Amino acid sequence: MTSSDSWKDQFLDASERLELEQSERRDERFALQRLLVRTSLAAEGQGPDLDEQLGELRELMRSNDVDLAALKSIQSRLDQLLDELDADRQRSERALGSALATLMDIVRRQARQAGMKDEFKSLERCLPTGRERGVQLAGWLECFGRLLQRLQDQSPRDPGPLKRWFGVGHGSRGKEGQETEDAEQAEPQPHASNDMTELSDGEAEESLDQRLRIARRVCELLDHVLDQVVLPARAHARASHLRERLESAAEWEDLREALNEVADLVIAAVSRSQTEFEAFLRRLDDRLAMLKEDCDAQAEATNDRRSDAEALDLDVAEQLDAMGSLVKTTDDMSELKRSVNDRVQAIAGAFRDFRSRETEREKRLEAKLATMREKLAGMEVYSEEMKRRLQEERRRALTDALTDLPNRESWQERFEFEFERWQRYRNPVVLAMLDIDHFKQVNDNWGHKAGDRVIQLVARTIRQRLRSTDFVARYGGEEFVLLLPQTTLEDGCRVLDSLREYVAELPFHFQRTPVRVTFSAGLIDFAAGGSPDSLFDRADQALYEAKEAGRNRIRVAGS
Ligand code: GH3
Ligand code: MG
Ligand code: MG
Repeated sequence: MTSSDSWKDQFLDASERLELEQSERRDERFALQRLLVRTSLAAEGQGPDLDEQLGELRELMRSNDVDLAALKSIQSRLDQLLDELDADRQRSERALGSALATLMDIVRRQARQAGMKDEFKSLERCLPTGRERGVQLAGWLECFGRLLQRLQDQSPRDPGPLKRWFGVGHGSRGKEGQETEDAEQAEPQPHASNDMTELSDGEAEESLDQRLRIARRVCELLDHVLDQVVLPARAHARASHLRERLESAAEWEDLREALNEVADLVIAAVSRSQTEFEAFLRRLDDRLAMLKEDCDAQAEATNDRRSDAEALDLDVAEQLDAMGSLVKTTDDMSELKRSVNDRVQAIAGAFRDFRSRETEREKRLEAKLATMREKLAGMEVYSEEMKRRLQEERRRALTDALTDLPNRESWQERFEFEFERWQRYRNPVVLAMLDIDHFKQVNDNWGHKAGDRVIQLVARTIRQRLRSTDFVARYGGEEFVLLLPQTTLEDGCRVLDSLREYVAELPFHFQRTPVRVTFSAGLIDFAAGGSPDSLFDRADQALYEAKEAGRNRIRVAGS
């Protein structure tokens, strides 16, 4: 092996090692960048202030020398903004959820009595939930509006569902009520109209009272939306105006329009998040552009290094060639010695230059890597925090605030899960629907707070008296749904009946007056067959039959 070969081999070895190190560092950096981008994406597009801070953070990351003080101040501002955003989002979600639940509660019974139970159920089933709610709610509200219109059209003399929902009289509305309405409907009405002036004096007075109650109820709903949903300024102004109109509403039509406008406001809140979604996509695009810029810079550094290495290679090869030919052509030993000496020094110089440029490059990369690591560490802490908050948010989204039981959204998930499990293993499962009897009377006689207290106590009792593997959710208002896995229909009936007896004996007192609270329930065995929807409908029907049969009792579907 010639000395030229050994130089070359050494150089190639060194060069390969360097390349490997470089490539490892590059990979590490890319991985860190990817992780950084992914974790930070979660924070994008949620509000103009937050976006501005993130924009600044991006600017900071683009510069070679990162100003740590500026980074820290952005970080603390981000923390503060996130807290605010978090609170806003939770408020909007809760307000929307409870406004929708209230609306649905109101319409359910009316739809059943108007023989439009199936239409109602199918609408209820498509009630958008979870993350999709924002995008789908506008369409859903349109269908809801159509259902209201049809309920209204059912009975020409009927002053409309609004009157019935918000101004229902005392006592329960059983089948008898429905028959009377139907009988009235059968007669052709010469002056069928919603106009209150066509009612008798007594009726007109009652209607006026009901109108006031409706106006008050809509105002309440509106206040709820205003308090809790973050609305754009324009919508806010509209809402205040609407509230004034409501307070002075004298005409029936005004009230109807008002409800529609409340729905519009909810839609306004929802479409706001659509705009935010678009902003999020724009930010994502920016992020990708930034990543590409960084990749380009990396590629450029690699090219620099490669051409430097090639130049060195060439340089060394030239010097070695020249030495080789001198050895062949000269006999003058002293000239040969001098020349070899010069050339070896030239080669050593070339290596020194290469090495120092290489060290410069390494330093620059090292510095970048260090700031990336620092940023990443910050982002990791932040992303952990985000994860924790998301989990908490999810828990809240699935929990009913009044009773702390799982809510209807949670029920839907669990019901589907249990049904799939049942299809696979065929172990017995019982589905039960519970509804507190004459609950409206509790509200009417003792006030809403007392009503809430009853709901809470009944919820706690159900939860305490069931097995931990049983599932119970608050379906809405004073209705609960239960899933009893590994339970035969016979056992399910026993459990429900003993629960019913227990609740009926609970010593409720309001203003020192003892009050008896009872519930009725409808049960069905999964083995009865059919889809989850059909099982649910039949349990609901059984509950309705238990009510018809006098309440404070349970009924099995189809029995
Ligand atoms: P039935 O025996 O036929 O079930 O009669 P009911 O009076 O219990 O049934 P209805 O559906 O007519 O009335 C339920 C009432 O529950 C109407 C609604 O205002 C009230 N409600 C719904 N949600 C809540 C709530 O969260 N708190 C309180 N206090 N009342 C509620
Ligand atoms: Mg009910
Ligand atoms: Mg009830």
